[in-house]
Amino acid sequence: AQSKEGLNFAQGTLTPFRNIELSPCSTVLQYGQGLFEGLKAYRTADDRILLFRPEENALRMKKGADRMCMQAPSVEQFVDAVKQTVLANKRWIPPPGKGALYLRPMLMGSSSHLGVQAATEYIFLVFASPVGSYHKGEATLNLLVENKFHRAIPSGTGDIKAVVNYSPTVKPLAQAKAKGFSDVLFLDSVTGKYIEEVSACNIFMLKGNVISTPATNGNILSGITRKSIIELAKNSGYKAEERAIPVDDVFDADEVFCTGTGVVVTPVSSITYQDKRYEYKTGKDTVSQQLRAALTGIQTGSIEDKKGWTVEIRS
Ligand code: PMP
Repeated sequence: AQSKEGLNFAQGTLTPFRNIELSPCSTVLQYGQGLFEGLKAYRTADDRILLFRPEENALRMKKGADRMCMQAPSVEQFVDAVKQTVLANKRWIPPPGKGALYLRPMLMGSSSHLGVQAATEYIFLVFASPVGSYHKGEATLNLLVENKFHRAIPSGTGDIKAVVNYSPTVKPLAQAKAKGFSDVLFLDSVTGKYIEEVSACNIFMLKGNVISTPATNGNILSGITRKSIIELAKNSGYKAEERAIPVDDVFDADEVFCTGTGVVVTPVSSITYQDKRYEYKTGKDTVSQQLRAALTGIQTGSIEDKKGWTVEIRS
């Protein structure tokens, strides 16, 4: 859907996946005036289709649009566009337990401006792709702490899902992968002492009965999975805290795990920092496994959704 002079994303259409036309001088290409979201549609055992908290993605896009000085679709327009995209791609939703249909809503400044300024026209679109497991074949993550490059700076855009947040992560991620790591754990850019997040997921640690995750200090993305896991952990009797976590605390943890739409809840088997490797408990009898089961049960309809987190899509 396009937004032009008050038309406000009203005339959306469904089309097969194709390239889009953009001016080379559009604000998204010139100045990174772009946002995206990611969410999944799951097929249940009784053949229903569920989305997980899509209005949270819509609200996060609205918050991002405000920071990036963009026009955003309303929550209703956002959720409706996602639903229509899912219905049009119904046959691509994998069977239960085999993955999900990943939805990628995007918002970008599409009008041409030579100088730095907000666009006057915007494109909002949603595309879909079936996905299996995010980290192919890997049940655990081995992370490399990154202490040279940072993904976010204070008062920047680290807490919104801006396209520009991912460009600084490409090189450290490629370097970590070349060394055999699955992902990078970023530190804060001011002191280099506190952990922030992984390139596309949030991080948690467990010590005793306490689950901790970095506070949303304006630099990390407030993950929808993160928020849900904090609630589920509290419901299961754990103490859940959001605080500034010195990287040294993580070395001493019993378990470490990552959360996100892609990874869902994935245990971290090791973290390497300045050539030292720290290992963590993974496998069946872990708290991360228990939380993963509680979350995926709700997402896939095998556990009753008492929280009203899922949205069923009906044709
Ligand atoms: N941090 C970053 C940088 C991400 O890209 C993502 C994925 N959206 C997350 C955290 C996790 O957020 P969510 O649980 O909403 O997918």
